[in-house]
Amino acid sequence: MDKKQEDLDLPDGTLRYEGLCRLCLEAGVDDVGFVELDRPGLEAQKDMILQVFPKTRSVIGLTVALNVDNARSPARYLNAMDIHLVEDVMKKASRSILRSLGRFGVRGVYLSPAFPMDIPRPGQKALNVSHKPVAEEAGLGLMGLSRMILHPQFGAAHCFSALLIDRQVEKYDRKLEQNPCLQCNLCAAACPVGAIGKDGRFEGFACLTHNYREVTINFLDWVDALVSSPDMEAYRQRFSDPETISWWQSLAYGPNYQCNHCLGVCPAGDRNRIEYEEDRQAYFRNVVKPLIDRPQTVYVIAGSPAEAKARANPNKEVKCFSKARR
Ligand code: SF4
Ligand code: SF4
Repeated sequence: MDKKQEDLDLPDGTLRYEGLCRLCLEAGVDDVGFVELDRPGLEAQKDMILQVFPKTRSVIGLTVALNVDNARSPARYLNAMDIHLVEDVMKKASRSILRSLGRFGVRGVYLSPAFPMDIPRPGQKALNVSHKPVAEEAGLGLMGLSRMILHPQFGAAHCFSALLIDRQVEKYDRKLEQNPCLQCNLCAAACPVGAIGKDGRFEGFACLTHNYREVTINFLDWVDALVSSPDMEAYRQRFSDPETISWWQSLAYGPNYQCNHCLGVCPAGDRNRIEYEEDRQAYFRNVVKPLIDRPQTVYVIAGSPAEAKARANPNKEVKCFSKARR
């Protein structure tokens, strides 16, 4: 048995905790945690996990940090670009971990951090395994008011994914005892459609309609405009030329997100909290206000509370859809 295998393998076939941590971090992720398949917190995921990889014994949760200043910049394409790049880093690191483990006879699969997903399955979730419960059980963070998983160091500014492997680990991680969410409500203040309620309510449909305008089901609206418009003039009534070019950009370079302001403003995590606590007014002025004031088109359902919220900000141009044709 060589040194690397000694670092990793115990005589009974379980994997050494420290050796496995080191291997994952050396592959390029920023944090890692391990969860046994039978953890009650993964009960709702278990059938799907076993469909994806029937030999699963353990789940490895992984996270890679985003660049904070890209996440905060009013030039939101910088945030989208960083997310796509970090997702690529995650996929490459995941594959590298499994290649290294494979040399010692460990089998497994790596999951997709976001896209692609398994979409054409009637009545089933598009993402086979939900990453948020895995990340929470692996001790990589807890859900904040914004519904994002907040890492104790990176706050909201990270991307996470998971591996399914056929071995047990000598010990497993646990959920964090303290939620990094500071209950500051800055995410609610920065949300242009009022999707985040200070009372914990979350209007997922309002977020989907706006932030994910060029992602997933909203694509059908663009296809509908292409197919049903009798001429270019009619098409331009529904999609301006900059919106059409933006769609091209999304298809060519990965999806644009319309805001992700909740991610940009969040002061949770050691990287941001100190700056926020040192001078809250300066933090609001320098980090939050530029995103609140950012000129942008906001996509809403006509007559919804999201429309009223978006129209209350004079810097936003509001574009309404009926529920039937979004
Ligand atoms: S992504 Fe944008 S729309 Fe969605 S909850 Fe965050 S701030 Fe609101
Ligand atoms: S912005 Fe504040 S309230 Fe919102 S998730 Fe982050 S820490 Fe929690």
